[in-house]
Amino acid sequence: MSNTEQYAVIGHPIEHSKSPVIHRLFAEQTGESISYEAIDVPPDELNTAITRFIALGGRGLNVTVPHKQNVLELMDSLSERAELAGAVNTIIREEDGELRGDNTDGVGLIADLRDNIRLELEDMEILVLGAGGAARGILPMLAELRPDELVVANRTLERALKIADDLADIGRIKGRAYEELETKSFDLVINATSAGLAGNVPPFPASIIGPNTVCYDLSYSMRDTPFVAWAKEHSCKTTYQGWGMLIEQAAESFLLWRGIRPTTAGVRDRLPN
Ligand code: NAP
Repeated sequence: MSNTEQYAVIGHPIEHSKSPVIHRLFAEQTGESISYEAIDVPPDELNTAITRFIALGGRGLNVTVPHKQNVLELMDSLSERAELAGAVNTIIREEDGELRGDNTDGVGLIADLRDNIRLELEDMEILVLGAGGAARGILPMLAELRPDELVVANRTLERALKIADDLADIGRIKGRAYEELETKSFDLVINATSAGLAGNVPPFPASIIGPNTVCYDLSYSMRDTPFVAWAKEHSCKTTYQGWGMLIEQAAESFLLWRGIRPTTAGVRDRLPN
């Protein structure tokens, strides 16, 4: 009998996911015997798909758009960070068969910003654009670092204010509308909106970018994302796309499942276009 243990990513659509390649590279590197596939799961089949995968022996799942929030209620337990984020990107089948939901997006982003890009986040004024699931995943981790300033701005102001309020016990976060940002620039601007997927850049005030501003787009693409192109046009210091976060959050999922954190250096260069 094979000892290969099964993992997968579920989302809709899913065909462009890089996760199977990333996890295969991790398995190769660590010598862990796993299989990892991408499964297209429409929203109305979410429960059935997870139940079927686990019943057939699956040990863990990654969860991506649009299921991150909807899987919450299907979990037997949640990590503190998944609870704070209100979203799950990693499911672990525990020894007793129970399903535990976790969220590695925040820790993945912080790993990229600190270990790869080498930013001193504690000394920075940080602006997060967007207040959806991804922003919820990253803001608790950023707030814990107590940066000089942490602002979340969103098209729908109420969602930004709600996050700031929900996370008030962790650290001070200011919730703002985009037009309220017109007075100052930030050291680090993180785009956590999904507007780029439709080729758009929301009406962010140009004043948020100064000559020393580092811009990070959670979205990623083989060419400049719309936000990265916009940030360059406004003469920021440097730009990054979310490739590093993608790989680091995957390494954290692998750690949760296999108890070993793969080395992430060099993985980006081995991903297909
Ligand atoms: P989400 O929950 O659907 O939230 C979308 C956010 O974008 C909301 O704040 C929404 O504002 C805003 N938005 C969408 N279209 C907009 C527009 N035209 N103008 C202004 N604001 C707009 O999505 P998510 O899960 O947070 O994902 C956000 C992005 O992060 C996606 O591109 C995703 O691919 C990326 N991501 C990357 C990684 C990685 O590993 N690199 C991990 C997670 C997510 P409203 O609240 O006003 O609707």
